[in-house]
Amino acid sequence: MSSKRKRDDAERGPITEPTTNNPRSPHFPPPFSEGKKLERTAIRADKGREEHLRPSKKRRNYAPCQPPTIREGASVVKLTIDWTVEQRIVWEGEQRREVARIQSDFAEQVEGFTPSANPHWTTTKPPPPTAASLSCIYPVTNAVFPNVLLSDAALLGNVRGEVADELKAHPKKYMALIPMGAGNGVFEEARELTMAVADLVNELANDNNQYTVAAPVREGQPPHGARFAKPFAMILKDPSTELRHTLLDAKTVAFRRNGRGFAFIASEVPPAEKPWVLCNFKGGPVTNSPPRMLEALRAIGERFIASPGLRALANRILKSENIGHSAEERIHVAIAGLSLVFIERLDEKDQDDPIWQLHGRPLTRVDRLHREWLRAIRRVAFFVNTTTELTQERAPVSCVWCKSELHTSPFCPLPKVKDWLGPTIPRDRLEPEPRDTKLAKEGKRGPKKGRKGKGKGKDTT
Ligand SMILES: [Zn+2]
Repeated sequence: MSSKRKRDDAERGPITEPTTNNPRSPHFPPPFSEGKKLERTAIRADKGREEHLRPSKKRRNYAPCQPPTIREGASVVKLTIDWTVEQRIVWEGEQRREVARIQSDFAEQVEGFTPSANPHWTTTKPPPPTAASLSCIYPVTNAVFPNVLLSDAALLGNVRGEVADELKAHPKKYMALIPMGAGNGVFEEARELTMAVADLVNELANDNNQYTVAAPVREGQPPHGARFAKPFAMILKDPSTELRHTLLDAKTVAFRRNGRGFAFIASEVPPAEKPWVLCNFKGGPVTNSPPRMLEALRAIGERFIASPGLRALANRILKSENIGHSAEERIHVAIAGLSLVFIERLDEKDQDDPIWQLHGRPLTRVDRLHREWLRAIRRVAFFVNTTTELTQERAPVSCVWCKSELHTSPFCPLPKVKDWLGPTIPRDRLEPEPRDTKLAKEGKRGPKKGRKGKGKGKDTT
């Protein structure tokens, strides 16, 4: 009680004081109403003049977006939206690799988001296969093969539209088998290749079915002189569930028949997992030094978060997937799990010309949106720091032998596995060949607008 009164007095003090200081009031006492008026103006004047007597204004402090909390019983843990870059060991088959990866605890608790692991490698060393897994009358390589990442174009590019539609419509009825070194060889040696593979498949299956393997029907003619023009995949029809699992578990099948080595990669059409490759970087800053990779990946993550275009697109795509509630949450989901991997490559003069490949979780399974996301990322200029730009590699990075996008031809890991029985890879066939310029026909597009349309018109005249 008394303390409150004291405070009240103190507050009132400066208000009443000015009236006693007013020189006019003691000598000329004004009429009651006028006095009141004067008193009021005096108060105002004084308040303005004497800074320290002004009642302090309550200014609202800036409160940044509050990170969410997790309740566990009575305790409440506040999450931070900070994310970290860390060095990780991953395994591609029996090959050990060091990659840089973004870890975001904040993203992992965003509603609707289930963090999945990168399907292109494993975090632990895979166990050796059992001897019985691929038993058959032909000698077959029994090894842990590294994953091969096949793009949709590797599976269905330049395949006749009706065939591609049928494969997509009935994925359970077919499998794609990509022979090692596929390209025009699939057609030049169609009989030899498809027969050898069909024989092996029938031996492996060892049931009463007769499985057939066929070369696909081509949509367009390959560029003159091309050895590795699409299509690449042979089609296995009506595999049993057991056969399908055997082939997918083996990933790559290398075998010897009549003294000749063969190998093929088995895949579902469309592949079960969307590729995680977002883009490739080339040039000066690319090294296999882990600290440099961590530094670059941190810069890439920050660029993702700061880029209004990527933010807006991640927001739109993830909203359609019912993931997260705000653009902030969604861009963190987009960068969670981003990783940078070093890929060896040689230029035309056999000099080192390595690549950093950026991997990231696909935001959606919808092809159209996924492509839009990739296009947006490939348009962004990334920097390691203020003076070092990360130049994006526009040319495709892939292996002509196995068609994987996770390594380049001179460094194909498949023929390097123990007890390789597949074909020996001719080193002299690594030089660039005419580019396959024909686009895969993925649905008929409307008339092209803008410059492209004009260019086309010019060509015909
Ligand atoms: Zn390869």
